[in-house]
Amino acid sequence: PQPIMAGKRGLVMGVANDRSIAWGIAKAVADQGAELAFTYQGDALKKRVEPLAASVNSEILVQCDVTDDDSVKATFREIKEKWGKLDFLVHAIAYADKEELKGKYLNTSRKNFLQSLDISCYSFTSIAQHAAPLMTEGGSLVTLTYYGAEQVMPHYNVMGVAKAALEASVRYLAADLGPDNIRVNAISAGPIKTLAASGIGDFRHILKWNEYNSPLQRNVSIEQVGGAGLYLLSDLSGGVTGEIHHVDSGYHVVGMMNVDKAKD
Ligand code: NAD
Repeated sequence: PQPIMAGKRGLVMGVANDRSIAWGIAKAVADQGAELAFTYQGDALKKRVEPLAASVNSEILVQCDVTDDDSVKATFREIKEKWGKLDFLVHAIAYADKEELKGKYLNTSRKNFLQSLDISCYSFTSIAQHAAPLMTEGGSLVTLTYYGAEQVMPHYNVMGVAKAALEASVRYLAADLGPDNIRVNAISAGPIKTLAASGIGDFRHILKWNEYNSPLQRNVSIEQVGGAGLYLLSDLSGGVTGEIHHVDSGYHVVGMMNVDKAKD
């Protein structure tokens, strides 16, 4: 049989290093025959992303800062020139000022609010605007979110608000792009130790809490998120759009810690 992603071309945005969630998804789809292009943010990350892209035989690597419309435009111009079309896209990009990923949400500044929402939420819409015209044979867009969008998590603060807006935009984009056979979904990943996560106050405690209190009693890996990414980016999920798919060891179904378990 043909590999699941044979003949499909996709752009992966948000690899910073080999611990990035975007890299877990990239590996999973590359292993199934997808051809990949990558973006990286700024020269500092180029030297990290270059060898990873090369390891999956990627021939397109573009600098892209999502706050800069010209760099977003240039990215999709390059995709159009080299490939002519696009089948799927991974958006694994978020940012908030570290100083406000601790303490209270109440103290969020306007500047950080706008920047966090711009990078972590609006960028997905902006990218969808550019990607959709290239998805002439249908397509799949996937972004990354977190449970802090649905429920209050310590220190997640403005990122929780940004992820809530991102999840809403997944639904609106799914409705807008559905008629063009373009699907839009999000993976709500459990906590994973990445560069971005290291900015969240007390992250080690959050990891431990999830490990102890999720039904599977362990944290998730980027390979497991990659498996879900493969499903959502492939035709296997042809009937799925507007969905927030949790890959969190089941943490989101638990309302209260099992006291019997705590006594063990
Ligand atoms: P990461 O640090 O590996 O990736 C974050 C990426 O965002 C980096 O590649 C960074 O370059 C990029 N980025 C930030 N600002 C940008 C900008 N202005 N332009 C272009 N790129 C920019 O961390 P990660 O944990 O793999 O994060 C990927 C996604 O997964 C994020 O949306 C994050 O919120 C989400 N997520 C992470 C976790 C977790 O626990 N790690 C859980 C759920 C969701």
